Amino acid sequence: MINQTAILVIYTGGTIGMVQDPKTLTLRPLTFDILYKYLPVLENFNCRIDFYTFDPLLDSSDMTPAFYIHLAAVIEEKYEDYDGFVVLHGSDTMAYTASALSFILENLNKPVIFTGSQLPIGMVRTDGRENFINSVEIAAAKEFDTPIVPEVAICFENKLYRGNRTSKFNAEHFGAFVSVNYPLLAEVGVHIRYHKNLILKPNFKKLKVMKTLDENITILKLFPGIRPEAVEAILHTDGLKAVILETFGAGNAPTTPWFLDQLKEAVSSGIILLNVTQCKGGSVEMGKYETSVGLGKIGVVGGYDITTESAVTKLMYLLGCGYSTDAVKQLLQNSLRGEMTV
Ligand code: ASP
Repeated sequence: MINQTAILVIYTGGTIGMVQDPKTLTLRPLTFDILYKYLPVLENFNCRIDFYTFDPLLDSSDMTPAFYIHLAAVIEEKYEDYDGFVVLHGSDTMAYTASALSFILENLNKPVIFTGSQLPIGMVRTDGRENFINSVEIAAAKEFDTPIVPEVAICFENKLYRGNRTSKFNAEHFGAFVSVNYPLLAEVGVHIRYHKNLILKPNFKKLKVMKTLDENITILKLFPGIRPEAVEAILHTDGLKAVILETFGAGNAPTTPWFLDQLKEAVSSGIILLNVTQCKGGSVEMGKYETSVGLGKIGVVGGYDITTESAVTKLMYLLGCGYSTDAVKQLLQNSLRGEMTV
């Protein structure tokens, strides 16, 4: 029985807790004690805040599917003891981790808020302080004793995004993320304005955590002039089960026979091909243009408006669940965690 609201802050690494190595001038992660030293204001929160620190701390470029499972296992283990979770994570691959966690944590009924920063928390102009404090407040927010944001979200620069709808968009601006195809879940100003109609509703079922992710997938990003040898090499990767085809515009691709023949062969050998647009906004509409009709005929699956980050982790998750190829194709066309608009 929880009396006072309790939040677990999980520190995984990233700029938010980094310092500059005086010799090499590169940024490297520090321990959480240092990070906490810069945020004494957290003591004024009307909730209990505990910390869990990953060892080693990682730059998010070093995150792997094994790390996603480890993070999910920590949340699962502590799930009943806390009202919400804040994950401090590097921004570079945060959209992938947040997407992965949204799939792995089935029946999530508590907030899992990812945040980080563009400047280390020890710097005077850091964006980390604000991001951290906003995230704790959002993770602790309740209405009628129920969390207001019972989903995986990213809180950055006064905005709350659905995690599996985001992409890192800017390497310099404090507003590093975009979610072009889904509106903000909340905006932070004098008040935190929650857009409750856009936030997933709790289902009050027991949390289920999938502990296997299948990494036998890849991305084939198209560009004008792509060589047959390059496509062939990718499609003949050992053990390959699925390919995200990053197409042009509304899901279009070259109509040249060698290209379509290679895709056809891949589909007949059981490889799943998922059509995701290279555009940050808008949706794949197979059959809208002649240049996507052939893809549909071959059996390429349309990914609607899913982000590449979400597509990568959704495929790892679905294949990890052990579904048949047909079932995976079917589930790719359903929105499982609000990751796409069907
Ligand atoms: N390279 C860092 C990381 O993603 C950048 C950041 O923290 O935002 O871990």
